[in-house]
Amino acid sequence: MAKKKAEQAQCSFCGRPADMAEVLVPSAGISGVYICSDCVEAINGILHDYKEQAKDTEPTQMDSVPKPKEIYDYLNQYVIGQDEAKKYLSVAVYNHYKRLAQGKGDDVDIEKSNVILVGPTGTGKTLLAKTIARMLDVPFTIVDATVLTQAGYVGEDIESLLTRLLQVADYDVTKAEKGIVFIDEIDKIARKGDNPSITRDVSGEGVQQGLLKLLEGSVVNVPPQGGRKHPEQRMIPVDTKNILFICGGAFDGIEQKIAHRLNTHVVGYSTDPARQRVQRENYLKFVAPQDLKSFGLIPEIIGRLPILTNLEPLDREALRRVLTEPKNAIVRQYEKLFSMDGVKLTFDSEALDLIVDKAIEYKLGARGLRSIVETIMIDSMFDVPSSGVKEFTVTKEYALEKLQKANFELNKTE
Ligand code: ADP
Repeated sequence: MAKKKAEQAQCSFCGRPADMAEVLVPSAGISGVYICSDCVEAINGILHDYKEQAKDTEPTQMDSVPKPKEIYDYLNQYVIGQDEAKKYLSVAVYNHYKRLAQGKGDDVDIEKSNVILVGPTGTGKTLLAKTIARMLDVPFTIVDATVLTQAGYVGEDIESLLTRLLQVADYDVTKAEKGIVFIDEIDKIARKGDNPSITRDVSGEGVQQGLLKLLEGSVVNVPPQGGRKHPEQRMIPVDTKNILFICGGAFDGIEQKIAHRLNTHVVGYSTDPARQRVQRENYLKFVAPQDLKSFGLIPEIIGRLPILTNLEPLDREALRRVLTEPKNAIVRQYEKLFSMDGVKLTFDSEALDLIVDKAIEYKLGARGLRSIVETIMIDSMFDVPSSGVKEFTVTKEYALEKLQKANFELNKTE
């Protein structure tokens, strides 16, 4: 029984005298031994943390991890095309979990399968990484490699890559340590020349060296608020051993490097029709680690990104599918917006073709589809909710008129 203000008694843990403790609980078995309510609360907290941590550090149970085929099917719901990248990613993520599930004293040490996605902008690199993270329900963050600089120069320290991950994990370090980081524009930190002795650029090779540490898995001190480290700041140590890094980059001009490499194998003039076809098709399909090296990534970084795959430019047919097919396709989003006002929205097939044509004409790719649809829909989104109509159809003529109007207004301001 709790004994309030026991005479002469004190907490046997912290020594707090009875009159300073809210409640002092006597031991059931040993007389003269007490514990105060503050100590009980503190111990409760410690036990709670301990149990949570034990839960988090338990090896991953493989039967709860989705199989590559399941990951691939999930990606298919959101991402159009990019079959090869989807397969590579599904396997990489699955293997990543196998690695987490691996018992400690295992003599075969499975290495980390960080991924590098090469493909033009707006082809779905970020979308793929984002979708995987949503499926796995792990902390996920996108960081831009261009803001990074070597320590001591203007810009952000490399460790700050992990600040955002910590933030999305609510500063739960154990959770963050199993997260996924998408590093965008990795190509922008390429060394400017293939020969390291010609140039030593601080924003290129220095950053790559710094990144290496994170990719290979080590404990790094992360500034909790990001930005630059300063001496008074308290750092949070984060182990990157189990963090999956997915890097993406457009690698503009890498086609020439690939073409060059492929053609150096040809002796004399090639009459081989297969090789001639390669020259006309998308060279990116043939991207290999040595092309990344020619582009200016250091071999150590390339070695730490063992899964290399490419994304294809989206052609007319793929763009058309992007508009309507993914689970959260642009057209579906607008249909939803209108349905919330009780209006059934329909896009004519020819209007959709027009949107795709414009995205191609303006060289905007998938990224442009949304802004084109937004331009077309702005007037109706303004008028329809208060008009009482129950159905609204976007025809080709309507879309064209709205686009022309937008262009006209654009011209007027020039
Ligand atoms: P990046 O390759 O530059 O990372 P993103 O993944 O950010 O491109 O794509 C930009 C937008 O374009 C996405 O939010 C998505 O709406 C659309 N998109 C691009 N590629 C695809 C694709 N393959 N399938 C579906 N939508 C796509």
